[in-house]
Amino acid sequence: MILIVDDNQSNLYSLKKLLESKDFQVDTADSGEEALMKALKNDYALIILDVQMPDMDGFEVAETLAGYSKTKEVPIVFLSAVNTEKRFITRGYASGGKDYVTKPVDPEILMLKVKTFYNLQEQNIAMKKTQQSLELEVKGRRESQVTMKSQIDHFHLMLESLPQIAFTLNENGIVDFVNGKWYDYSDSEKNFPETHPDDDNIQEEFERCRKKGKSLDLEIRIKNRETGDFRYHLLRVTPVYEENAIKNWVGTFTDIDDQKKVEKEKDEFLSIASHELKTPLTSIKAYVQLLERKLKLDKESAEAGFLTKVQDQIEKLNTLITDLLDVSKIENGKLKITKKPVNLENVISNAIDTIVQTHESRVKIKRDGIKPDILIPLDAIRIEQVLINFLTNAIKYSPQNNQVIVTTFVDEEEQEVRVSVTDFGIGIPDFKQEAVFNKFYRVEESSLQFQGMGIGLFICSEIIKQHHGNIGVSSKVDEGSTFYFTLPLN
Ligand code: ADP
Repeated sequence: MILIVDDNQSNLYSLKKLLESKDFQVDTADSGEEALMKALKNDYALIILDVQMPDMDGFEVAETLAGYSKTKEVPIVFLSAVNTEKRFITRGYASGGKDYVTKPVDPEILMLKVKTFYNLQEQNIAMKKTQQSLELEVKGRRESQVTMKSQIDHFHLMLESLPQIAFTLNENGIVDFVNGKWYDYSDSEKNFPETHPDDDNIQEEFERCRKKGKSLDLEIRIKNRETGDFRYHLLRVTPVYEENAIKNWVGTFTDIDDQKKVEKEKDEFLSIASHELKTPLTSIKAYVQLLERKLKLDKESAEAGFLTKVQDQIEKLNTLITDLLDVSKIENGKLKITKKPVNLENVISNAIDTIVQTHESRVKIKRDGIKPDILIPLDAIRIEQVLINFLTNAIKYSPQNNQVIVTTFVDEEEQEVRVSVTDFGIGIPDFKQEAVFNKFYRVEESSLQFQGMGIGLFICSEIIKQHHGNIGVSSKVDEGSTFYFTLPLN
């Protein structure tokens, strides 16, 4: 909008009509005071100001307008009939005017000037708006930078107070922060701690995980700079996501050396104890068999019954010790598998027969699926051991139901065979299912009710791993479980 200020009503009228004919919005004021009031209240793109007015002349109005921040930028075009002398024109410019038009007004010249100033002012306003929004954005960014920095500082402070070695890496996998404990194992932020020559390379392992966007979990020995000792640490590096993209990584080294030593001592004890127990047990077994033969007892007699019970218990003890020996073999990497082409169906039926004989008529084992009458490279004794373990558990953990189903499925596409054992027993809670394959793990809810050491499934998983197959379970509490394993056909 344009404001025309003139004390002469007819001038006001004709100028207003002229400008309106060119589609400008026009406001008028017939005195300097009115002009000031209006200019402070409204936004004008241009003020056309008559110089000669009673009370407050145009120069005074322009000077006052130049003093207010709201109006100081509004361009002013002076109109004057007489004061065309140089000093008047100079004063006009000095008081804040942008141009000078003499009366009588030449409409074309006036329109040209009005258009120019109007456009300039419009551009000015638009630029100011852009500048304001830019300033706002910069301010916002600065504020969020300050908040982010204080958050990062707080995060670093927290990492500093951790008992572990802690560090962060940027999205490119470059270490960009380490806490003080880092320097017990590395001389520079740039280098990962030195690892034992027999262990994995941290940088390589991390790069492998970074490319897949997966976290890294590694048990590794790193060298303490002061003592020169290699200590076992659990290294964990986890991605931090922001809007579905990895922003950076957080890593920790937790010292597990003492735990490892205790674990090693325990494994050594286990290995010695099971070996030491095995020898006298073998003698006991042999002498009981000798006794049985020598006594030639009547099968129906109470003494024969006692002897059978002794033999059953010896067998149980034997299984326990053999399992313990297997565990120590696994620990020492000595559980060896000797594979040769075997008919899997024979292995399955042997295992079922063994279970049926030892449990008599108490169980019903149903055979389901297409029988894999094919030769598969496997260690028959070890695979039978896995099946017997699955079946024994299926019966043991189903006190109210004696039905067990053994299913087989040959997956031609995956080139593997899948064997599963289903029971309708107590089941396993979801979040504990994976752990049942861990050494000495027993589900707490059922551990008191059922006897066991929690090593059977650990041995099974190791046997299947050595056959390059998979092992797993799906289960529902109070409905039952299905334990399965797969074996590659070749
Ligand atoms: P154990 O049976 O000697 O405890 P395992 O290694 O064979 O050891 O099994 C580990 C744990 O898994 C068991 O203690 C039990 O809690 C759970 N489990 C195994 N099989 C079953 C099953 N068929 N149904 C329910 N729980 C099972």
